[in-house]
Amino acid sequence: MEYRRLGRSGLKVSALSLGSWLTFGKQISDETAEELMVTAYDLGINFFDNAEIYARGQSEIVMGNILKKLQWRRDTYLVSSKVFWGGDKPNQTGLSRKHVFEACHAALKRFQLEYLDLYFCHRPDPETPIEETVWVMNDLIRQGKILYWGTSEWSAQEITEAHAIARREHLIPPTMEQPQYNLFHRRRFELEYSRVFSELGYGSTIWSPLASGILSGKYNEGFPDHTRLGMQGLDWLREKVHTEENLNKTRALSYLANELDISLPCLAIAWCLKNPNVSTVILGASKKSHLEENIRSLDVLSKLSPEVLSRIEEIVNNQPKPDGF
Ligand code: NDP
Repeated sequence: MEYRRLGRSGLKVSALSLGSWLTFGKQISDETAEELMVTAYDLGINFFDNAEIYARGQSEIVMGNILKKLQWRRDTYLVSSKVFWGGDKPNQTGLSRKHVFEACHAALKRFQLEYLDLYFCHRPDPETPIEETVWVMNDLIRQGKILYWGTSEWSAQEITEAHAIARREHLIPPTMEQPQYNLFHRRRFELEYSRVFSELGYGSTIWSPLASGILSGKYNEGFPDHTRLGMQGLDWLREKVHTEENLNKTRALSYLANELDISLPCLAIAWCLKNPNVSTVILGASKKSHLEENIRSLDVLSKLSPEVLSRIEEIVNNQPKPDGF
């Protein structure tokens, strides 16, 4: 395993990490969830990602029970949660002082932990002044309930504003962003955030490296049973990623991966890892074999030579360019 600094912070995070969206407390059994965490930890993964909305809290309960059972030393792993969607009532969502404070306590209770290592604002909240959120995150850090706070899918402008407020008020600024980043979804990460990384020293914990499984290549020749994109209630996701354009590109990428003698998931994940602004790639897995395969992306980094990278560019044909070019 390779470990990377989370931006300019002193925290070391494994270059690959494990997430729980749609899997823990939902798609997979608790036994499989435990098997995934043990496999990940044994392979050197030290970061496990979660959120209050995942399986409506059940994902944190499952992960917390596993951590309690396994009794790993607390200083050998990192756990995150994200706050935004906590329920249907007016003060159960968003980033108000009240919801952030209550959501953090509820997450700690579900996890049965004393503190969270990373705590993310799952989305920006146009109905709460950013200053209110910066203050409550600062307070949670001072109270020892979280160690680092960050954002997820905030614009560069919102992140910059949070930093400016923190500097002005002598508060602790956000440390990292959790954006989507994969071969089909690049613009924000590669263009919009460039100054967030270079000037604010932000780290990143990127999500959906396989575009919800499309980039594993398993949808190339039809629609396999028992996969995420066939799950009930996920029509919106299927419509977004299971497109003819994405499938055609994935088929072409599969040929290239074959030629390089590596698997397509490894190629897609290694491509993310090649970007130095990526602190960790959060993997999703519904089976142990996914993790065992995806972890090999670390071994194939050297196969992604400049020539191979430009062949990938030709296939995906989506390199973001500043507006007006
Ligand atoms: P991916 O895009 O990698 O999708 C993971 C899914 O793809 C797996 O659950 C599995 O689904 C399939 N898969 C993975 N590896 C393989 C393989 N080798 N062969 C075949 N199929 C494979 O990542 P996620 O979308 O799960 O995102 C990762 C994590 O990021 C999440 O768990 C979550 O923690 C975080 N996240 C954060 C978000 C945010 O807004 N901040 C949003 C979304 C995710 P299946 O077997 O069911 O087809």
